[in-house]
Amino acid sequence: MARYTGPVCKICRRNGIKLMLKGDRCYGAKCAVESNRRPYGPGEHGQKRRRKVSEYGTQLAEKQKVRYIYGILERQFRKNFAEAERRAGMPGENLLRIMETRLDNVVYRLGFADSRNQARQIVRHGHFAVNGRKTNVPSFEVKVGDIIAVREPSKKLEYFAVMGKELGRKNQPGWLSVDVAALAGRVLALPGRTEAEPGIQDNLIVEFYSR
Ligand code: SF4
Repeated sequence: MARYTGPVCKICRRNGIKLMLKGDRCYGAKCAVESNRRPYGPGEHGQKRRRKVSEYGTQLAEKQKVRYIYGILERQFRKNFAEAERRAGMPGENLLRIMETRLDNVVYRLGFADSRNQARQIVRHGHFAVNGRKTNVPSFEVKVGDIIAVREPSKKLEYFAVMGKELGRKNQPGWLSVDVAALAGRVLALPGRTEAEPGIQDNLIVEFYSR
């Protein structure tokens, strides 16, 4: 599926917040949001004083922010929201759970990739199996008890040898457990609202789609 491939730091500058779209590199001093080299929005009009944002604009920006964090195009995001509304519980929380339980996000959270973009790529290239079955669909939704593992042929690759050494040093969220020796992870529970990226106001997304 197509995805946004443009410069991602621009998105952070436009929103004025760190969206962590470059993974570990976002912790460096060169982060465009933190470096203070260009403390204004991108583009020709970025330095003009910003007009007051309307209620609609705020809701739209929040929706776009979440789309960019998880790397999802509008059509699929809208489908995800429809599914979140269909399920029991709060639509906003359901939506964030759908985002977090995507296979590419789980691979990123387990520490097999430095960013979600990288995680999507290694999933697409068929390096992972879910419960022993090769799965190369980044949007695949994992469930409690699922085991996500690097496939045997891929374990020989240098990338996974290096990542394997790093795995033990990374912090996995409480709803996932990792088996460093087996290059695998298990879903212990479904993630709650607090386990999604911090600072997301899902109520604004619900309001956006309820207009
Ligand atoms: Fe955003 Fe990361 Fe670029 Fe900083 S380095 S602006 S957090 S993508």
